[in-house]
Amino acid sequence: MYIVLLGPPGAGKGTQAQRIAAATQLLHISTGDMFRENVKNETALGKLANQYMAKGELVPDEVTIKMLLERISRTDAKAGAMFDGFPRNVVQAEALDEALRGNGAKVDFALLISVRDAELMARLGGRWICRTCGKLYHEKNDPPKKHGICDACGGELYQREDDRPEVVASRLEKQKPPAALIEHYRKAGTLKEINGEQPLDAVTSALLEAIR
Ligand code: AMP
Repeated sequence: MYIVLLGPPGAGKGTQAQRIAAATQLLHISTGDMFRENVKNETALGKLANQYMAKGELVPDEVTIKMLLERISRTDAKAGAMFDGFPRNVVQAEALDEALRGNGAKVDFALLISVRDAELMARLGGRWICRTCGKLYHEKNDPPKKHGICDACGGELYQREDDRPEVVASRLEKQKPPAALIEHYRKAGTLKEINGEQPLDAVTSALLEAIR
């Protein structure tokens, strides 16, 4: 089974993807995590991607698509995966469709997590991530037990460069799922919309219900 999670930055795609992966054993592929890993390791790809990420812009399609296609060509992705943060536009969606078609597969569900702009601004400002294991927290909605420390592994929590307030507004503007992308999956009959303003557990339940 292949699932794409769609939604604006701050809709909870990353958090929900971690929860669904844990509940379903589906492989979780996050292009944002892959880029951040490359930035951390100071690879050539990381240096290139960071020029865009730091400004809240999308990394060019050819770079992102190449990285994603390489990732899904590995054996662990043959049985299925859940994509978080990919595709961001129709060009990327078509590249994914074509690659999966080559394996006799397709995107089975496109789950759109909807949240209003004002709520997104508040959420993005309070987001913290574990430097060691990548677990996500939120100051207000989902805080760690000890400030600055990951509950799961004891790692140090940090704020993403692109979660700084001056970048957040422009990221929201530039990175909302475009109408044409939503339409792409609506036409394919795979789109399901979930209200992302419910409590975390209710969103997880609604997503799991949608793919059952
Ligand atoms: P995310 O963790 O999904 O919010 O992604 C963090 C940053 O990585 C984004 O702001 C983009 O700069 C870049 N990025 C992640 N996924 C994509 C994608 N599918 N296409 C282009 N850029 C991406």
